[in-house]
Amino acid sequence: MLTYIVLLGPPGVGKGTQSKFIASELSLPHISTGDIFRANIKQGNELGKLADSFISKGQLVPDDVTIALLRERFTQPDCKNGAILDGFPRTPAQADALQILLNSFGGKVNLVLFITAPTESLIERLAGRWSCRAQGHIFHERFNPPKVKGICDIDGSELYQRDDDKAETVLNRIQIYKKQTAPLIEYYTERRLLIEINGIEPIESVSMQVRSVVKKALSSSHG
Ligand code: ADP
Ligand code: ADP
Repeated sequence: MLTYIVLLGPPGVGKGTQSKFIASELSLPHISTGDIFRANIKQGNELGKLADSFISKGQLVPDDVTIALLRERFTQPDCKNGAILDGFPRTPAQADALQILLNSFGGKVNLVLFITAPTESLIERLAGRWSCRAQGHIFHERFNPPKVKGICDIDGSELYQRDDDKAETVLNRIQIYKKQTAPLIEYYTERRLLIEINGIEPIESVSMQVRSVVKKALSSSHG
C-alpha cells in the first residue's frame, strides 16, 4: 500500500516539525526539498550553487530543477511504500508533475495537510528556529529549546540559524508563498484532499490534531 501525504503551508508554520512526527509514526521517509537543496549547497556542487542563488533571496528554485530532484529522490529504496512530502509541491506546475509521477507507479496523493498560523507567529518562529547540521532536526529557542544550547538533542551535532531565516528574507518568502504556493489551497480543495490544521497551538497540540486527521483520512483513502 502506497501512502503519500503532502504538508502545505507558509514558511515557519511547522511543516518540518510535524512531518518528522508523521514520518516516524508511519515509517515513511520525510522528504524535504529544502533539506535536499541545503545538503547540495553544503557539498558545493552545481545543483547547490544554482539552488543557493534562489534560496538566499527567498525565491523558489525553478520548477524543472525541483521536479527532477524529486523524481530522482523517489527512485531510492526507502520510498517503496510512499513518503511524507514537506515543502513539495510549492507551485501548481509541481503539483501536476507530482500527480503524473505518482500515477506512473500506481500511487496518488492521499492527503494534504494545510497548516495555518498568523504572519506574526511565522516571523517569531523563523527568527528563533535552530536547525541541526547533520540531519535537519528542528528546534526553537523558546518553543522547543534543545536540552543543551547549540547542540542537537537527537544526534549531538551543531545547531545553526539558517541565512534565509533573516527578517528581510522571511518577508520575501512569505510574499512568494502567497503568490506562488497559496493557489495550491484551491487546487487540492477541488480534489477533496485538503484538510486544514490550526497551527497556532503548541507543537504537541498541533501534532495531536495531525495524528487524528491522518488516521481518519488514511483509513478512508485506503479503505
Ligand atoms: P516549516 O517547515 O513550516 O518552515 P518548522 O517545522 O521548521 O516550519 O518550524 C519553524 C519553527 O517554529 C521551528 O523553530 C519550530 O521549532 C517552531 N515550531 C513549529 N511548530 C510550532 C508550534 N506549533 N508552536 C510554536 N513553535 C513551533
Ligand atoms: P521552510 O521550511 O521555511 O518552508 P524549506 O526548507 O522548505 O523552507 O525551503 C527553503 C527554500 O528552499 C525555499 O525558500 C525555496 O527557495 C527552496 N525550495 C524548497 N522547496 C522548494 C520547492 N518545492 N520548489 C522551489 N523551491 C523550493
